[in-house]
Amino acid sequence: MSAIDDLPPLRDVVRVHGLEPRKSLGQNFLFDLNLTARIARAAGPLAEATIIEIGPGPGGLTRALLAEGARRVIAIERDERCLPALAEIAARYPSRLDVIHGDALDIDPAALIGENAGPARICANLPYNVATPLLVQWLLTEPWPPWYDRMILMFQREVAERIVATPAEREAYGRLGVLAGWRTKARILFDIPPSAFTPPPKIVSSVVELTPRAAPADCKAALLSNLTRAAFGQRRKMLRQSLKGLAVRGEPVDAQALLAAAGIEATRRAEEIDVDGFARLAKALETPA
Ligand code: SAM
Repeated sequence: MSAIDDLPPLRDVVRVHGLEPRKSLGQNFLFDLNLTARIARAAGPLAEATIIEIGPGPGGLTRALLAEGARRVIAIERDERCLPALAEIAARYPSRLDVIHGDALDIDPAALIGENAGPARICANLPYNVATPLLVQWLLTEPWPPWYDRMILMFQREVAERIVATPAEREAYGRLGVLAGWRTKARILFDIPPSAFTPPPKIVSSVVELTPRAAPADCKAALLSNLTRAAFGQRRKMLRQSLKGLAVRGEPVDAQALLAAAGIEATRRAEEIDVDGFARLAKALETPA
């Protein structure tokens, strides 16, 4: 693919705007137009959609989303050096690109979308240093079903494996697998080698699709979040031990009674409990013994 639009090639954009990649901002840029188009198409159909993109950087994926026909892209970028390059893209696609300068961790994308926006979706090559907290924030969002109908996100391969893990993948299974598996169907779509990025990272990346479940097992997101943090904080310990420090509204929880109420043996370990088991425990936390 030689060009997807009449804007300058991404390498020129980076040079002209002095966008020397910064490690502290997780800046590994994708210049390969086939790959950016493939990621954009994974977020399709785009014609009616509003796409939230985190970390557009010089705008490779942003341009692919717009060229593939996204009705509107709202891009949140922390690095102000990228703003002039993104303004050029906004001028090329009038009324279709809004750039928000800020830290995505502090921004609720739902508040940016507005009315009659069509289906909303998140699509991003995430900065690796905030990728997990951002995903957890979106997974714990209220109300549910959420404001987005899908997330197409790039992570380090090892993080992608944790997102899709079940107890069958002992080493990879943890809090992220429970929270993602509880509320979404998650799968790895494809890998991207280090050589596709500038600068190349040390590890392989993977694009993950997360589709919200209409009716996840009944429990409260905040309680499941606290519970999984405690359980996997000491993942090799028996649950009767790892859940000892758990408190709800400042009151300590009786771990043995909680496990009994959820029908889980007190000698089991966190990595042996599936999503339904954790949801039962979180439900039991609503009415502590
Ligand atoms: N989307 C571009 C691409 O695929 O080439 C750049 C992806 S790069 C992996 C991550 C981008 O996220 C960088 O542009 C970086 O400046 C931005 N970023 C880092 N931390 C951020 C944060 N907390 N909020 C918003 N953007 C952030």
